[in-house]
Amino acid sequence: MSSSTMRRRGVCLVLSSAPGVGKTSVSRALLEMEPDLSLSISATTRARRPGELDGVHYFFRQPAEFDAMVERNELLEYARFLDRSYGTPRAPVEAALAEGRDVLFDIEWQGHRQLRDKLPGDVVGIHLLPPSLHELERRLRGRAQESEAEIARRLEVARAEIAHWTDFDHVLVNRDFDRTVAEVRAILHAARSARTRQPGLDAFVAGLLKG
Ligand code: 5GP
Repeated sequence: MSSSTMRRRGVCLVLSSAPGVGKTSVSRALLEMEPDLSLSISATTRARRPGELDGVHYFFRQPAEFDAMVERNELLEYARFLDRSYGTPRAPVEAALAEGRDVLFDIEWQGHRQLRDKLPGDVVGIHLLPPSLHELERRLRGRAQESEAEIARRLEVARAEIAHWTDFDHVLVNRDFDRTVAEVRAILHAARSARTRQPGLDAFVAGLLKG
């Protein structure tokens, strides 16, 4: 076996942040740059936003359909967020990991916790922080015409998400987009070479030592 043909187990890269910090843009850039990385498409009961496609951005489901997926144990993790359900379909993730492909998850802290329990050793968690709450508020205001009450609610949600920063392996402050993308890529690349993700190493090293 040569080092280049050796199979490795895929990485579960979780990118979490408060809404408005920029994780969606970072994810998009990462997916363009990393051909071995694919996005886990979640199921959700929230309404489709303009421009979103079923099966591309989310699997949009009725609450009863979502509950049936939970009943059938088809979700690796699921959580409630702003009175809606969100969850990760199990089958595509398990297939990708077994084939040595990496999966990117844009999920919140409860999902990250469950994923760590379900897939011990596979998950690398990154939390993205905003440079300041003031900056976060500015970004949230820039997104849509929303009432003061809605902005206040989003800031509350943001604080709740940030409060869980200690759950994560890595914490980055998103001051500069390109730099953040480069840092996330460096974390992914380092995770790929972890000894525990290369089950073929034993045989490879044994071969090396035999000469
Ligand atoms: P949005 O509705 O803005 O697309 O997402 C709201 C929040 O739900 C975001 O923080 C996003 O990361 C999170 N989310 C999206 N999909 C999932 C999922 O499958 N599981 C969990 N736990 N959270 C998710």
